[in-house]
Amino acid sequence: MRYLGSTYIAVTILVLTFVLGLYVDVRSEDMHVRHLGISTRLERIVRLEQELTSLLSGAVLEEKLLRVSRYDSVDEHLTATVGTVAELSREMELSGDISVLLDLQKGLRTTEARSLRHMRSGNWGRARAVLFEDDYVLAKKIYEITTESVISALSDELAQRARRLEQMRQLTYGLRLAALGLLLWVGWMFSRRLRSEVAEQERLQQKIVTTNEQLEVSVRERTAELEAVNRQLAALSSTDALTGLANRRRFDEVWETEWQRAARMGLPLALALIDVDHFKAYNDHYGHQAGDACLRDVASLLAAEARRSGELVARYGGEEFVLVLPGVTADEARTVAERIRAAVEGRAMPHEHSPVAGFVTISIGVASARVQRAEQADVLLKEADGALYLAKHQGRNRVMSAA
Ligand code: GH3
Ligand code: MG
Ligand code: MG
Repeated sequence: MRYLGSTYIAVTILVLTFVLGLYVDVRSEDMHVRHLGISTRLERIVRLEQELTSLLSGAVLEEKLLRVSRYDSVDEHLTATVGTVAELSREMELSGDISVLLDLQKGLRTTEARSLRHMRSGNWGRARAVLFEDDYVLAKKIYEITTESVISALSDELAQRARRLEQMRQLTYGLRLAALGLLLWVGWMFSRRLRSEVAEQERLQQKIVTTNEQLEVSVRERTAELEAVNRQLAALSSTDALTGLANRRRFDEVWETEWQRAARMGLPLALALIDVDHFKAYNDHYGHQAGDACLRDVASLLAAEARRSGELVARYGGEEFVLVLPGVTADEARTVAERIRAAVEGRAMPHEHSPVAGFVTISIGVASARVQRAEQADVLLKEADGALYLAKHQGRNRVMSAA
């Protein structure tokens, strides 16, 4: 993943800046509290100092003995407060020099102790002199100035640190913003890539669909072509090349089917066997090609006469034809056969050497049966053949029915 690295970086920055921000917040809060502690204590030092001074100066001026415990308690608070300030500034590693303050304080305490001793021995003049002598007043002044300068030095330093912390906080905000920007950028890039991948997939899918459709079309076309070729082949394999009628093979199939159907339904089925009279003589006289043409003529006449649905004319072999007449009784079949014979006769194709007439004639043997059992299909054929033989025997150019 290309954008994973950037995501890691952004998340790391975010986590780091949150931790840093947390640290800065805690530090700021802590520093604020300590700062507050130091300044209130320093102010307290000044106040306590003033209290000590007024205690002492009040006692010597009014010449009444100061309660030592009162002095000690203020002194004790003062020392404790100074100690806390020193400790706090040490902890915070502040550079404001508290030790100077402590040294100055020690000097003051020594002078005051001296004055206290004089007070207790009732030596008010000396006690007063000690407290008002120049050294003590000066030391007191220096002490006050030093305290003020320490307060302001510490304040400055703390303010500077606060500023630095604030800068760090700003930096963490900046980094957080940058990390968020990076994350947004990664998200945007990622979604853009995702979108382009989805589009690419859709394009491929569309291409597959189109290809499949084209394939289906070409398969359909090919199948149709093959079916047409098959139909042509089937037609060829069942057609007689010379006359264009159904051939013997087709006749056998149709005859079998019609016989089964007639048997199943108990219907009559008729058959007519047709043979051209003295055709050998025709061939011999007019030639084989003329013979072929004659056969074609006879065939087209037969086809024209057998046009009812289910009827079939086929070339049975040589100059013989066969007519299948489903659902036709013997009488009806004879009528059809007679019509055919008359049609050929009526055509009057010259046949000089025919002993029957001066033109082409045909003989027809008809057989019909109400079919009862499926296995007797060739019986009717034999009967028709027998009737044809009779027709020939009785002089030709006639129709004979099987008995
Ligand atoms: P019949 O009246 O008794 O039927 O006499 P026929 O001469 O017609 O019978 P035969 O069986 O003696 O002769 C049939 C002739 O038919 C012989 C053969 O040369 C001819 N023939 C058979 N098939 C064809 C064919 O495809 N073309 C041509 N031109 N002649 C054919
Ligand atoms: Mg024959
Ligand atoms: Mg013949």
